Amino acid sequence: MILAEFLSQLAALESAASPRITAAESLDAWTEVRNALVGRQAGEFTAIMNALGELAKEERREAGQRANGVKVALEEALETRRAQLAAAMAEQGPTLDPTMPARDRWRGTVHPVSLVIDEVVEIFRELGFTIALGPEAEHSWYNFGALNFPADHPAMDMHDTLYLGSEQVLRTHTSPVQVRTLQQYPPPVRILAPGNVYRRDFFDPSHAPMFAQIEGLVVDEGVSFADLKATLSHFARRYFGAHTRTRFRPSYFPFTEPSAEMDVQCGVCGGNGCGVCKQSGWVEILGAGMVHPAVLEAAGLDSEKYTGWAFGMGPARTAISRHGIPDIRVLYDSDVRFLEQFGR
Ligand SMILES: [Zn+2]
Repeated sequence: MILAEFLSQLAALESAASPRITAAESLDAWTEVRNALVGRQAGEFTAIMNALGELAKEERREAGQRANGVKVALEEALETRRAQLAAAMAEQGPTLDPTMPARDRWRGTVHPVSLVIDEVVEIFRELGFTIALGPEAEHSWYNFGALNFPADHPAMDMHDTLYLGSEQVLRTHTSPVQVRTLQQYPPPVRILAPGNVYRRDFFDPSHAPMFAQIEGLVVDEGVSFADLKATLSHFARRYFGAHTRTRFRPSYFPFTEPSAEMDVQCGVCGGNGCGVCKQSGWVEILGAGMVHPAVLEAAGLDSEKYTGWAFGMGPARTAISRHGIPDIRVLYDSDVRFLEQFGR
């Protein structure tokens, strides 16, 4: 190579470089141009410089000085453009929007019905009750026979039962757990039996074919209706508030005698009457009564020695009246937008 050729390559690079540097519209593009021009590995300037050694010894000094001048000019032009691009970006402002709400971490919540069950269980746990569970696919004797339902008793019509076979049913209430528990453990017995029960109902705004129930049972010597009233009134005050008033109305269940429904004064209107309490001032909370002697005998206990009381409540109804939910079906829809309102 001769000096003239080396110098003309340098001049060509210098004149071509300026428009290429100016054309870089972003820092990424600028980086590409810089690497193409003066990159150590594949830069065009570096390629020309590699030919320096091919020149005659006396030509190298002039060639070196000229190359150095071109390199300084290229670096200055590059730095000028980089500063321009950086200034333009600073003027645009940051590309992220700090006012955008952060994405929240997913937090599960407890289902409103489970919330009611947990709270009821907790109140009775303080009173010495333990939890007892039983099967949902139940023998009809436990579901009806042991609970004093004669085979053709009109009370059977109260339950439209889902049969799994001639003697196997999906339990229509949690009361079979009473008999199962009494067969297994001698009194004194104080249990709470939460669980799902099944009825042959259509899904409509106030009915579901499957729903939760909470059963309570106390059996011991000398247990009276006064114990029932005192315990359930205490529960109502713990659950609904210290000044909650309760009332007991006579009722009928085959497995208790006498039987009662317990109402609490409507917490929404304070007893004056409103839509939630259907203008009555009272909301029905649970059914209860003294355990029928026939049930105690069916479980193998001496009904002359032992007495007891029991109650059953529907936590879904409690959740509905507590939150003013207009349609029971939303409790079973698994719609996360509805359910996530019930964080503890
Ligand atoms: Zn009311």
